[in-house]
Amino acid sequence: MRLGIMGGTFDPIHYGHLVAAQEARAALRLDPIVFIPCRQPPHRPTPPAADAEHRYAMTIAATCTNPSFRASRVELERPAPSYTVDTLRWLHDEEPAAELFFITGADAVRELATWREPERLVELCRFVAIARPGYDLGGLERDLGEFARAVSPIQAPGVDISSTEIRQRVSQGRPIKYLTPEPVEAYIVKHGLYRGDDQPDEKGGDQGCPSRSTSATCHGA
Ligand code: ATP
Ligand code: MG
Repeated sequence: MRLGIMGGTFDPIHYGHLVAAQEARAALRLDPIVFIPCRQPPHRPTPPAADAEHRYAMTIAATCTNPSFRASRVELERPAPSYTVDTLRWLHDEEPAAELFFITGADAVRELATWREPERLVELCRFVAIARPGYDLGGLERDLGEFARAVSPIQAPGVDISSTEIRQRVSQGRPIKYLTPEPVEAYIVKHGLYRGDDQPDEKGGDQGCPSRSTSATCHGA
């Protein structure tokens, strides 16, 4: 099995993530691809804007129509911060025969040498790097040195969307339609996410976060 892993904060998930995963899948014949929302990224000083359970629910909403895509709770079940090396160790133990491919944008992959245990990371998986508008894949050897050998750059249509932009748009009352799948857009509206006020859910109808499952296994696996 050639298992693709798309890690991220997914605050919220958008078409940039989905296109990157789909292009990596096609280029390297990966199947399935597991989307893993983190509890708290190690490098960020501030916590994500949306609760981890909301980010996980949106990840399911965005991926459930693709038979090759899965969503996993593995990083939600561990205490923060979420280290990729711990997740890859867990996946390796769960699926010892699988080849692991960790899919990243060109911005994230450049920081690889600063991640926890980079030497172990590159033993556990191959990195797949996708250019994103504003971040090309030139000069990887200069920036990553020996770790550049662990990275496969792939071509994909540049999708100029970021979660930051979506959060800003929602807080300013601007549209996010066609930047993320419709169920994600509807979920953001329904739960009042990213509005930047003190009312997390609309119309007093606090339906709260989706119920938690106790297992850390992948949905649909
Ligand atoms: P934020 O603006 O909050 O940082 P983001 O859009 O960068 O959000 P992340 O959850 O931080 O999304 O990213 C998860 C992974 O997806 C990272 O490896 C990132 O480089 C990659 N990624 C995000 N957006 C794109 C995009 N538009 N094209 C290609 N890769 C992307
Ligand atoms: Mg980012």
